[in-house]
Amino acid sequence: NGSSDSVSESCIKIPTIKFSKLFINGQYVDSISGKTFETIDPRTGDVIARIAEGDKEDIDLAVKAARHAFDNGPWPRMSGTARGRIMMKFADLIDQNIEELAALDTVDAGKLFSFGKAFEIPSAANSLRYYAGAADKIHGEVLKMSRELQGYTLREPIGVVGHIIPWNFPSPMFFMKVSPSLAAGCTMVIKPAEQTPISALFYAHLAKLAGIPDGVLNVITGYGPTAGAAIASHMDIDKVSFTGSTEIGRQVMKAAAASNLKSISLELGGKSPLLIFDDADASKAADLALFGILSNKGEICVASSRVYVQEGIYDEFVKKLVVKVKAWVVGDPFDPKVRQGPQVDKKQFDKILSYIEHGKREGATLLTGGKPLYEKGYYIEPTIFTDVKEDMLIAKDEIFGPVMSLMKFTSVDEAIKRANDTTYGLAAGIVTKDLDVANTVSRSIRAGIIWINCYLAFDEDCPVGGYKMSGFGKDLGLDALYKYLQVKSVVTPIYNSTW
Ligand code: ADP
Repeated sequence: NGSSDSVSESCIKIPTIKFSKLFINGQYVDSISGKTFETIDPRTGDVIARIAEGDKEDIDLAVKAARHAFDNGPWPRMSGTARGRIMMKFADLIDQNIEELAALDTVDAGKLFSFGKAFEIPSAANSLRYYAGAADKIHGEVLKMSRELQGYTLREPIGVVGHIIPWNFPSPMFFMKVSPSLAAGCTMVIKPAEQTPISALFYAHLAKLAGIPDGVLNVITGYGPTAGAAIASHMDIDKVSFTGSTEIGRQVMKAAAASNLKSISLELGGKSPLLIFDDADASKAADLALFGILSNKGEICVASSRVYVQEGIYDEFVKKLVVKVKAWVVGDPFDPKVRQGPQVDKKQFDKILSYIEHGKREGATLLTGGKPLYEKGYYIEPTIFTDVKEDMLIAKDEIFGPVMSLMKFTSVDEAIKRANDTTYGLAAGIVTKDLDVANTVSRSIRAGIIWINCYLAFDEDCPVGGYKMSGFGKDLGLDALYKYLQVKSVVTPIYNSTW
């Protein structure tokens, strides 16, 4: 790879970790058990901080605070304009701390610092602004009743929300969930992933500074089977918004059903296809394919992990791909030349390497990569397999790493059929100049977002979320706001005397 020297010591910057306790009812507190857990720097494997380990009892306290704030506090009762103003202030405070927040996510998750600074942290602030602008536009409808009745609907906040967040985008995911639920007037308990708890605790501090009332936004750091499970099965949480693996999503759904039938939304795994047609520019298509699978080291639920290339362009595409992947620099995510940092932790690192071994054993051809890099840290070479068949594990399972499965196809119909040959349905990409092909394919693929001649093109106003076993319920856009609202119908006779 481009950077063959080891991770340069000069690049290592560890910001001070200022917040490491649970945030309940506006205060930072130790966990009831007094336990803490380590969070590590994936560039080195070293411990960077010890964080309070919340458990069921801490979730109970946080839910009590959130319930009180919902039932009695000002947040759900204040005007949308007033909530929006506080959210705007929250966004400005994020802007004032962009570098520090980006650095925290870099040391906690191995994310590219430059990308965090330019996109991820600003997108967190912009998500607050987007929903702040919607907070004063939440209203119901006047109904056309067929009898002499007057009917209208109210959109009310759903109540206390539990947000369970994954580790791959600690800041954007936090705000994808928190911003619309704040705008709706909900109160909440947020559980960041145990691998990446640091920035969420910092955001709690900024929320308080911005004027979000105590109890509205609580952050409980801790593990999934304990703190996470306590949220999913809590009797006093009205809704859970979960992003993570399909396996855990299923458990969250079971726990919701077995407890109080709380409303849930699940954004789960993916195995998204990118379809490249003969008329594409091979060089641009190769750039897009690498961007789709190697961005954020492949730790993206919508990663383009299955790349289908039409036979007429296949050889040229592969040639370009090999040249480009050689120039793809893997290394310290603080280094501006670097395009790919370390995997989030040892567990993911081992899991990805074992999938690579599996791919070799299954008979796929290793075109590039396949090995770990450097003595320290969880770096893996960009890895491309060719001769992949749909029934191989590497083509079916979400690997969540820098591993591309490359496949050849002949016709448009075949491409659609094979792209849909997956239990998932999160995203898909199409590269073609032919409008008919783009229109046909985008309508035929069963996935929640289709990118034509682009990939990973996210926007605050553009909903994302799964079809099939990738889950249900959207993040982003106004659809996400409606997840946190419920419709109440109010009916009264027009003439009281006639009823
Ligand atoms: P991954 O496999 O990518 O780590 P997970 O689905 O395990 O994804 O984790 C996503 C989030 O779900 C994390 O915040 C994690 O702590 C939480 N989680 C894990 N297990 C459970 C569970 N049994 N109940 C609720 N939340 C859980």
